[in-house]
Amino acid sequence: MLNFSFYNPTNIIFGKDQMKNLDTLVPKNAKILITYGGGSVKRFGTLDKVKEELGKSEREIFEFGGIEANPRFETLMKAVEIVRDKKIDFLLAVGGGSVMDGTKFIAIASTTDEFIGKESELLKFGFNPIPVKTALPFGTVVTLPATGSEMNNGAVITKGIDKLPIFSNFTFPKFSILDPTLTYSLPATQVANGVVDTFIHTVEQYVTYPVNAGFQDRTAEGILQTLIEVGKETIENPTNYDARANLVWCATMALNGLIGSGVPQDWTTHMIGHEMTALFGLDHAKTLAVVQPAIWKVRKSSKKEKLLQYAERVWNIKDGKEDEKIDLAIMKTEKFFHSLGIKTKLSDYNIGEDDIQKIINSLEKHGMTALSESREVTLEISEEILRKAL
Ligand code: NAP
Ligand code: FE
Repeated sequence: MLNFSFYNPTNIIFGKDQMKNLDTLVPKNAKILITYGGGSVKRFGTLDKVKEELGKSEREIFEFGGIEANPRFETLMKAVEIVRDKKIDFLLAVGGGSVMDGTKFIAIASTTDEFIGKESELLKFGFNPIPVKTALPFGTVVTLPATGSEMNNGAVITKGIDKLPIFSNFTFPKFSILDPTLTYSLPATQVANGVVDTFIHTVEQYVTYPVNAGFQDRTAEGILQTLIEVGKETIENPTNYDARANLVWCATMALNGLIGSGVPQDWTTHMIGHEMTALFGLDHAKTLAVVQPAIWKVRKSSKKEKLLQYAERVWNIKDGKEDEKIDLAIMKTEKFFHSLGIKTKLSDYNIGEDDIQKIINSLEKHGMTALSESREVTLEISEEILRKAL
């Protein structure tokens, strides 16, 4: 196992009706800004429930809605103005990954002048982080299980055609309320996206090379097998509580630092996927389902041992030569995504050969020229991967 430091201070409150704890979790006498997205939390009553709970104690409550999927810098800076103007001291994100990520950015940007009138600072921040010295405290009420943002310190912010990851030790939520019933209203396609995003988060910390990390491997395999067991069921029967609860918890555990501690990580799929979302507007998870199988096909030999382990332990493939087992595991993975209604080819989204160069140019612009656990994925290999995904 590799050396590691594991830090995760987020308080998780999981289960039905857990919203009732909001009043004790959110500081009293505080000025709160509730942040949310395009309106689903209004339509399905979650925002009203949040306000009812917060209203049980003396608090001044403000709202900022309209954080779009793949949250944009310009939108978030409007919230920053409100935070500064009203002297907000606690943020509460109510929504999915986009709202939680956006709120993390608001939490940082509200406490520094770095971004005011200096938009290019964000670029610097994303890839060559300026030291974050502080951030406003915030909590989350999760309505979409997928990103793990509710229990990690990462955020992905979009500026123009740049989609930029941000990390800081100050952007762990203080608490996250995970009530699976709040996710029942999700359209099937968003649930499918959540299953796939969680699956890919897990394999990006698992299908690399072996380092004898038995616990992390077995935990990753447990998440993957749980997703395979509940994925279709939770899409087809959204109110099956146990299936949904398992998806929600898998999503959180896949990206809260636990399975990634002490193991190599390979975020190539996410990095290529981010460029595709920024360029073509494709859903995050849909980009991942296209890129991941192609990576395995192209990098079969460098990932051989873990792909074999994945085939044997996750898909229970016992017979055949090593190569055959790996090929079958990749095929089963693609079939699993298809069974959720998620496609696995660029051509399924009318992205053709001509578009590949645009993706490569964006990767180059963002310095993504040596990706993967071994940094061997050069722009040439990324191109090969994308061609394989055509
Ligand atoms: P999302 O972008 O937060 O939400 C997608 C859509 O689902 C929105 O249109 C939203 O509508 C709707 N929605 C959310 N909850 C709902 C509910 N309960 N019922 C009905 N509709 C609901 O999706 P996401 O997949 O959670 O987040 C994606 C973002 O997270 C991307 O920007 C991605 O890059 C980022 N990400 C972050 C991390 C991380 O570690 N922080 C990891 C992976 C990905 P409304 O807008 O109307 O609410
Ligand atoms: Fe993701």
